[in-house]
Amino acid sequence: MKGGKLIIFSAPSGSGKTTIVRHLLKQPELNLAFSVSATSRLSRGEEKDGEHYYFIKVPEFKQHIKNDDFLEWEEVYRDNFYGTLNSEVERLWAEGKNVIFDIDVAGGLRIKKKFPKETLAVFVKPPSIDELKIRLKKRSTESDDKINMRIAKASVELATAPQFDEIIKNYDLAIALNEAHELVAEFVGATKKK
Ligand code: 5GP
Repeated sequence: MKGGKLIIFSAPSGSGKTTIVRHLLKQPELNLAFSVSATSRLSRGEEKDGEHYYFIKVPEFKQHIKNDDFLEWEEVYRDNFYGTLNSEVERLWAEGKNVIFDIDVAGGLRIKKKFPKETLAVFVKPPSIDELKIRLKKRSTESDDKINMRIAKASVELATAPQFDEIIKNYDLAIALNEAHELVAEFVGATKKK
């Protein structure tokens, strides 16, 4: 595979990485396209198939693993598989885009290892675990059980932050958005508009 740059945003669930990624996608000079992951979890809220995720069943996901179709995949939560299809990155690179990912820390680091030069791996740090809990509860798209599962994973994920190229502290969203924009602009060789 050969093409543009790969921009990874990884963080514990609820850290605000999705908000940051959406903001960056709106900046034309960055020439970004979102890598739509495959997942075996059910869609929630307004999520659309092919736009937020490719929603597939577990057997189909496992078949893709067997066929070696994934650039990386993880069982992020028990029975909930998530993965980046090689075909997705190839498609976006063929369109001349830089590809941006909203994926978990293990997947993010795996891509960085496969494409060290082409990849900028950014870790988004939440203010605290307590604040994460509050944000996930506010989002109220999941049961308490699922929220607790995400919180338990967050502590483990926070420990991987030093392995990333950059760490953005998301304590104040406006500042975090600006910082993310500057980092990515520099990496892809675009000049950030003031
Ligand atoms: P959610 O269920 O909240 O959409 O996502 C749960 C976690 O899985 C998030 O940390 C999200 O970034 C991550 N994720 C989404 N797509 C992928 C993927 O393709 N690969 C990996 N490794 N993680 C992913």
